[in-house]
Amino acid sequence: MAKGKGRQKGRALDEAASGRLRIILGARPRRRDLLIEFLHLVQDAEGHLSAAMLKALAHEMRLSEAEVFEVASFYHHFDIVKEGETPPPALTIRVCDSVSCMIAGAEKLVAALARGAPPGQARVVRVPCVGRCEAAPVAVVGQNPVAHATPDKVYAAIAAGATAAPLPTALGLEDYIAGGGYEVLFSLIDGERSAESLIETLSAAGLRGLGGAGFPAGRKWSIVRAMAGEKLMTINADEGEPGTFKDRTLLEADPHRMLEGALIAAHVVGARRIFLYLRDEYAGLRALLAQELARLDLAGLMTIPIELRRGAGAYICGEESAMLESIEGKRGLPRHRPPFIAEKGLFGRPTLNHNVETLFWLREIIEKGPQWFAAQGVNGAKGLRSFSVSGRVKKPGVKIAPAGITLNQLVRDHCGGMAEGHVLVGYLPGGASGGMLPARLADLPLDFGSLDAHGCFVGSHAVVVFSASDDPRAIALNLMRFFAHESCGQCTPCRAGTEKLSQMMAAPDWDAQTMEDIAGVMRDASICGLGQAAPNPLQSYLRFFAPGARP
Ligand code: SF4
Repeated sequence: MAKGKGRQKGRALDEAASGRLRIILGARPRRRDLLIEFLHLVQDAEGHLSAAMLKALAHEMRLSEAEVFEVASFYHHFDIVKEGETPPPALTIRVCDSVSCMIAGAEKLVAALARGAPPGQARVVRVPCVGRCEAAPVAVVGQNPVAHATPDKVYAAIAAGATAAPLPTALGLEDYIAGGGYEVLFSLIDGERSAESLIETLSAAGLRGLGGAGFPAGRKWSIVRAMAGEKLMTINADEGEPGTFKDRTLLEADPHRMLEGALIAAHVVGARRIFLYLRDEYAGLRALLAQELARLDLAGLMTIPIELRRGAGAYICGEESAMLESIEGKRGLPRHRPPFIAEKGLFGRPTLNHNVETLFWLREIIEKGPQWFAAQGVNGAKGLRSFSVSGRVKKPGVKIAPAGITLNQLVRDHCGGMAEGHVLVGYLPGGASGGMLPARLADLPLDFGSLDAHGCFVGSHAVVVFSASDDPRAIALNLMRFFAHESCGQCTPCRAGTEKLSQMMAAPDWDAQTMEDIAGVMRDASICGLGQAAPNPLQSYLRFFAPGARP
């Protein structure tokens, strides 16, 4: 035998860790694509990922240690504890510092909690948007989200041991069925409705992909349906765009409406399996979905298998190809296109991917007809949309409103007006990546394509409203720092550009020309939408809010 061959490299396998791991994993198949699920199981059981456990997991799954480590270290929610390091305290308090929470005073909250956290028992961690912007500022104690958080509320939750995520009170399976639920699905399965007629219905309704891209849903169905071979479907419930919380709100209220939509879509295109990818921050919703999926299966209504997958704190996994990589158990690195996922997607198969809200509308559109849905839009737009509204309005929350509504109408008619004492200065029409617009442009229709001339877009319809009490420059910096934190690092323009722009925007004096040059390179040469859209807040600021700009 050649020297060294047959000997295990690095540290020896820890038999005790291997034993614990086998108990944690139980009889689950050691599938490569389940790596992230297994990392979660280990961390849930042990509070962190030790070097010994990562090695044991690599051994158990017949993977290299480097492969396991590179996946675990990619995701923000995994706490890797290297040899000789101290494990984190048992309790983590996560404080959101993204834009809506920043406006609501997250900085002061972080500082106060950091001063008061019981040493050794709890740690305070700043995190990007946790998807509860209507209740800003938000702190998550363990897995329990504390709305409108104050230090006193957080300490009260700790004292009460309230660290688990509460189960949302949703419409359950029985009630959903009693209201006519799953009848549309079975009308398709029983041949009363044809796949072709449903594609026509969607196209006539003008339903667009509501995760942000706005691709026509009917056309997507036609493309995937025409593909040969075994097809798969994915549902993107990873909404991580700061300011967006509509998918969580819809699912927490009526999960079967989306599940029925998913089953209808999968039957139309001929998909054999469905993967539902949910962001890790939604722990209560995850428990609800697991419960309702089990009920659906037990009732014999899960006509196509649906597998629930758990994200691990990476915004980039909202990008569809990065999400597919994550479902395959890998780092969430966006893929180069072509090929598009409709042709070569999950596990190399043709894949239909939909956002939660897109699927949520299906049943109602089919029941009431495409003309009903199309007629709901205003200012030339079609349909209804779920706007996530936060910031300086009286009643923030998810507002179901006509596509094409203006910001002024949305605030006046759906949000009770501006918050007391606040005057509109500007708004984010589409979360962190959609840019910023000034009050004078608050009468533009909010729809796909309607804001292009102003360098902005509606994306996932996350509207954050700010007033004279807020500093647009600080908001733009907050957004750029978010992108720097979330860049997957795969391409230099995005990785280096977001970092460099964050530094330049934090400086007292700005070199606007160099900033614009960097922004141009990022737009032209980044692989995916994150790097391409990251300059939007900066360029909006320069255009509309900087000294000398027309306010
Ligand atoms: Fe990753 Fe950014 Fe490149 Fe997208 S643009 S692939 S997030 S580095």
